[in-house]
Amino acid sequence: MLKIKNLHVSINGKQILRGLNLEVNRGEVHAIMGPNGTGKSTLANVIAGKPGYHIDKGEIIFKGKNILELPPEVRAQEGIFLGFQYPVEIPGVSMTNFMRTAVNEHRKYKGLDPMPAGEFLKLMKEKQQLVEIHAKLTNRSVNEGFSGGEKKKNEIFQMAMLEPELAILDETDSGLDIDALKIVANGVNKLKTKDNATIVITHYQRLLDYIVPDFVHILFDGKIVKSGGKELALILEEKGYEWIKDESPN
Ligand code: ADP
Ligand code: MG
Repeated sequence: MLKIKNLHVSINGKQILRGLNLEVNRGEVHAIMGPNGTGKSTLANVIAGKPGYHIDKGEIIFKGKNILELPPEVRAQEGIFLGFQYPVEIPGVSMTNFMRTAVNEHRKYKGLDPMPAGEFLKLMKEKQQLVEIHAKLTNRSVNEGFSGGEKKKNEIFQMAMLEPELAILDETDSGLDIDALKIVANGVNKLKTKDNATIVITHYQRLLDYIVPDFVHILFDGKIVKSGGKELALILEEKGYEWIKDESPN
């Protein structure tokens, strides 16, 4: 589904990603871990198409197409979803209108008519229950005055509404207490199918107690320096990232 080949990315002349390779198939959950400042969010943003990054080299193939030239909204319509590390507040835009617009833009791209109002409200309710987000939050403006944990939960709610083929969750676990963490993980697990894939970016191992990844990758200094199964996360938990520096080729 996703194939990233030899990706080099810089920001303002500063090299961030330097030769990153990654392959994700349908039905898989991948965890990307690594110290702060190694390029995890850069990778997530570049896949989703956030402007401001310079692609120096390499390609990102999604469902057989190189997506690097596509604007972010088309990538989203093609089935890519990014859950932000720092979700923004959008005062004055209700969650309902925001989601209705998003859902209907996706439908339009697929050649479908807008979803009838009753059906849309039913979908909202169903997904609220799935991710255990209170209706009082989804009745408010997007993220306005939400706590850190509520914002993160709201990212999972949006993901549930849009049913992406590839979901990238950028440190959705940071700032969550243990109950919220379980709810977020539970939401991700419930949304998993054999046709979709998830990339979970996390700095800590604890999320992976609840979302069991098929593969764990360590991103260090702009490339994936080690890949393995879920046991790799446990080694990181025990040994930290210091030993990676010794194993890293440069
Ligand atoms: P991570 O998510 O792994 O913590 P990031 O991808 O956010 O890392 O950042 C990687 C590096 O790129 C860091 O050194 C960060 O300071 C730098 N960086 C990120 N965004 C910018 C920017 N807009 N301008 C300059 N440097 C940036
Ligand atoms: Mg980050």
